[in-house]
Amino acid sequence: MTTPVAVLGSSGSIGTQTLEIIRSDPERYRVTALGVGRSDLVVAQAEEFRPDVVAVADVDAAAEIGPRLPPGTELLVGEQSMADAARTADTVINGVVGFAGLSVTLATLEAGKRLGLANKESLIAAGPVVQRAWQTPGAEIVPVDSEHCAVHQCLRANEITGKVGVDDQVATIVLTASGGPFRGRTRSELESVTIDDALAHPTWSMGPKITIDSSTLMNKGLEVIEAHELFGVPINDIDVVVHPQSVVHSMVTYADGATVAQLSMPDMRLCIGYALAYPDRWAAPYGPIDWAEIGRLDFQPPDLEAFPCLGLAYEAGRVGETAPAWLSAANEVAVEAFLGGVIDWLDIAEVVDRSLQRWPGIVAESVDAVLLADQQARDAANAVIAERMG
Ligand code: MG
Repeated sequence: MTTPVAVLGSSGSIGTQTLEIIRSDPERYRVTALGVGRSDLVVAQAEEFRPDVVAVADVDAAAEIGPRLPPGTELLVGEQSMADAARTADTVINGVVGFAGLSVTLATLEAGKRLGLANKESLIAAGPVVQRAWQTPGAEIVPVDSEHCAVHQCLRANEITGKVGVDDQVATIVLTASGGPFRGRTRSELESVTIDDALAHPTWSMGPKITIDSSTLMNKGLEVIEAHELFGVPINDIDVVVHPQSVVHSMVTYADGATVAQLSMPDMRLCIGYALAYPDRWAAPYGPIDWAEIGRLDFQPPDLEAFPCLGLAYEAGRVGETAPAWLSAANEVAVEAFLGGVIDWLDIAEVVDRSLQRWPGIVAESVDAVLLADQQARDAANAVIAERMG
């Protein structure tokens, strides 16, 4: 049987790796839809995979891409086109970057389909909205992020395949963090770090925004909020441990003290193949462990004084509603200001903290409410930065 798959955000890192693994098993998966913001890489992808539809969010790019698509491939244009493309498949890989990914998440879940989720904004900014869509019969989320994919696998050890309930005997979820480029540094050692220092990530090669988030541990804080939304575990029962080798991708500790961990060499294709094949296992080994190469595995607690963004994310996660959306938007503004040379690295947490104090308590009752919080948080963060500079 062939499973129809939609690959949205197909020109990005998750999208191209998804197509790479589907290419290796054309008997089992058929690409019904591809979607991009504006990249014309989608033309070559459509030529190879012959999807029914190609969605292009940017109208100008669509006008240029449309005539170059192979015959029989329908072009969908505009902001809602990716959500329409999602409805053509049984499994949707959402590798869309940014807020645009939320509409794909909601369309997939509301259609009662499987969502392989790599888009961060969906659960961080709009957790309560996504939860309601997720209640649709048949709707399923299999996380593609390495940590959450690991937790999903660890929960299966106790035959927990949905959300965690009170009887499930989960004590804590433990997310691992590489620690980023500043692992082991004290707060005073972080006073004078440069943009280039912060952009040098030891393990993963990623875009500048997420690499800075990794240097402040905000990335891990956002993943704590995502884990809470995905698995239903209270924020305070989600721990973070720094693990520089990035081989243990996360763990679940049960009530009896037993900890189940998922290990593999860092390779996103394992997570993508897992989301496609679940509950089966993908046949090709992505990230098998070379034990001689690893040698040792180290663990240390995170330093919340040097990396206050992690604590701020916990704070926003505990508050809930649109506080995580507010945190995430304020952080985006702060990171941009840092990358633009306007503020120092330590100021990122300071700006996020002061912005979070201005959260007006907006309830996350709809996508519009989330968008309003996002916009107001950006205004608040810009005001905080202006006050600091003035
Ligand atoms: Mg991650």
